[in-house]
Amino acid sequence: MKIIDNIKELKNEIKNLKGSIGLVPTMGALHNGHKSLIDRAVNENDNVVVSIFVNPIQFGINEDLDKYPRQLNLDCELCQKAGVKIVFAPKVSEMYDDDKNNLTLICPPYSVVDKLCGKSRPGHFDGVCSVVAKLFNLTKANRAYFGQKDAQQLFIIQKMVKDLNFDIEIIPCPIVREADNLALSSRNKYLSENDRKLALTISQSLFNAKKMFQEGIKQKRAIIDACLKLMEQLDVEYIEFVDKNTFEFQDEANENTIILIAARVPETNTRLIDNINL
Ligand code: AMP
Repeated sequence: MKIIDNIKELKNEIKNLKGSIGLVPTMGALHNGHKSLIDRAVNENDNVVVSIFVNPIQFGINEDLDKYPRQLNLDCELCQKAGVKIVFAPKVSEMYDDDKNNLTLICPPYSVVDKLCGKSRPGHFDGVCSVVAKLFNLTKANRAYFGQKDAQQLFIIQKMVKDLNFDIEIIPCPIVREADNLALSSRNKYLSENDRKLALTISQSLFNAKKMFQEGIKQKRAIIDACLKLMEQLDVEYIEFVDKNTFEFQDEANENTIILIAARVPETNTRLIDNINL
């Protein structure tokens, strides 16, 4: 496995690869959620590139860019064991010119960013799409693997690929959870013991919502009220129903519904997201 930190060397290596290329874009602090994407990519491609880059332009000014967990050595070990060919872990200066206000960006339309995470994190998806597009160009990947954990991100990237005719297949991968159903996230490292317990009410709400739907309850209000009751100790940023095919808000649940939640836990103020497909 090669660990590469600069674009010139990456391009050279990519040129010499034979067969298909799978890309797994990450911000590192790899866990079993990331590993599931990597394993699938290794299974389906002759070569796998994992990018590890805490992308500054997708963070807002008061967000956790500086304290975001960084553990490149451990991440590389995981990649090596999984059969990855290249880890691309560039410095910020390798990816962006100094003047971050002077970059060409890919900005998805308001219809998809003016809601949910895009609404509370202005500019976030411009940063995500721009770095992902750069990674697509640099790696010339045939397939790229994204987690359904970040459902809005996945939808927006699929739209970008379609709208801009990128020659790449986007492979959605299911959410990996702990035994108690907490969705794996690099940000779970921030949680205190008590926050970890309270964070569980997010997935409990989602699983309970799915159960209510399976029992015939479709009213959004009834389902949301039950979720909010379970999450009463959290600061809920949003709980919403969207159609998985259009990402439009829905007034009532149906089999195309994704229920999405973003919430903060009280002690560490960690922001967590999760969702469930009905
Ligand atoms: P991140 O490092 O948080 O930017 O995530 C990199 C990729 O891993 C994204 O496509 C995420 O959706 C995916 N991912 C993160 N957590 C999980 C999880 N628990 N299950 C599945 N995919 C995940």
